[in-house]
Amino acid sequence: MHWADVVAQEIAETCDQPLIATGISPTGIIHVGSLREAITGESVRSAVEALGKDVRLIYLIDSFDPLRKRYDFLPEEFEKYVGMPISRIPCPCGKHDNYAHHFVQPFLDAVDSLGVDCEIIWTHELYEQGRFAECIDKTFEKRQEIIQILHEVTGKEAKEDYAPYNPLCSKCGRFTQPQFDTYDYPYVWYECGCGHCGQADIRKGEGKLTWRLEWPAKWTIFGTSAEPFGKDHAAAGGSYDSGKRIVSEIFGGKAPYPIPYEFVQLKGVGQMHKSLGCSVTGLDAINMTPPEVLNYLFLRVQPSRAIDYDSGLGTLDMADEYDRMEVKFFEKEWTESEENSVRAYEIAQHNHVPEEMPLQIPYRHLVNVVQMAPTFEDVIQVLSRTEDMSKASPADLERLERRVSCVRYWLNGFAPDMVKFSVLPAIPLDMEITMNEKAFFQALVRRMNDCVWDATTINTVFSDISKTSPLGSKGAYKAMYKIFIGKPAGPRLGPFLASMDQKFVVNRLIQASQ
Ligand SMILES: [Zn+2]
Ligand SMILES: [Zn+2]
Repeated sequence: MHWADVVAQEIAETCDQPLIATGISPTGIIHVGSLREAITGESVRSAVEALGKDVRLIYLIDSFDPLRKRYDFLPEEFEKYVGMPISRIPCPCGKHDNYAHHFVQPFLDAVDSLGVDCEIIWTHELYEQGRFAECIDKTFEKRQEIIQILHEVTGKEAKEDYAPYNPLCSKCGRFTQPQFDTYDYPYVWYECGCGHCGQADIRKGEGKLTWRLEWPAKWTIFGTSAEPFGKDHAAAGGSYDSGKRIVSEIFGGKAPYPIPYEFVQLKGVGQMHKSLGCSVTGLDAINMTPPEVLNYLFLRVQPSRAIDYDSGLGTLDMADEYDRMEVKFFEKEWTESEENSVRAYEIAQHNHVPEEMPLQIPYRHLVNVVQMAPTFEDVIQVLSRTEDMSKASPADLERLERRVSCVRYWLNGFAPDMVKFSVLPAIPLDMEITMNEKAFFQALVRRMNDCVWDATTINTVFSDISKTSPLGSKGAYKAMYKIFIGKPAGPRLGPFLASMDQKFVVNRLIQASQ
């Protein structure tokens, strides 16, 4: 059985109206791992839904977390915001409500395009609405017990001044230490390092629980049934272990079914984002991988297994594998070892499996076509030379357009040079063409002038003539790529030539033979 089905069954058996929670800390650049979390959450949601349950997925944004340091990608003036909650820091570009929105909004748009059906919840709003007040009150009341639990779970020495809750200084805007003995619901006094003394109201956004307390407090508020989270939280003595005890012993709630997932490793030869200091961000991954393929990538293996996200040729392999599983799903024929992948294909549709087999254009072919066609209309026109595009449904065209834009993004930033080319508008004056090559082109012109214009025929003609040419097969290919793209190698010749207008190809051969 697929892992998402196993988890879904466990959840459906124990909860009437299950709630799956997932989240993100948008303090800086969003990593590919955050996509794994969102997709894992959505897959479990849709698998539970398929069992007939009324299930919700919430997406919690840690917008009240402090900015921990001035990252390299931030302007120098952001130094002064370090320690402040990111919902109260201005956005670096001036177009968003605040810092948290700036980093998370593009990601949320993208998550939407992945078909993740979730409710967005901003943590700073939960604080402002007083949703945490009851839990915060308990942390003051049971602070000694909390210190004891943390000591037992982490094995670290108990700290007497441990603060489960930090008031926000009303003067400097940074989190500070509370004066525990002054607590009198709903107020606590603090004396901030900046010299300011004040009072925080725990029902308002005037302070925050620390992570080890905030997480179980969220489980209590929402009654979370299951939650995917990075494996670092799942380690022995980690925040899931302490959260499990705190939620039941302090808050009187229950811990969710844990779905720890492994990290996503980045592979490939992609360009580095110099200002960001990392090679591929979550947004890049979304922009260059078709959403259905990205969903599939995270579903085909267990959450406990590491995934290589390959931004190089692996992107093409993954799309090919997805398309292969799609065929198997619709033909209802697969081997035992493929069963899991076919089910991953099905879950990747989030309960919106197409009724008919979608139109498939081989992804590698699309990569070539996109480089010969500047607009989407041009892409359709080029494809029409080799495919019957009249069969394409509106949904097919929509998927094709998404794939085309992913291919363009990939070609612009991440594709290895070997797959890149552009058709020369004319033969450069200084291009050297040998007598043998000229004779070869002349022979080609005679056959290609009126042959059937498809990849198979072109291949036959090409191999017939190259056999009799002193250039040999290798030299013949080289000569062809030279006059069409100015490189010694290129896309598969048959489909490549067939994708161009027959007259254009013949004219180029005539030109080259003179
Ligand atoms: Zn912005
Ligand atoms: Zn202060």
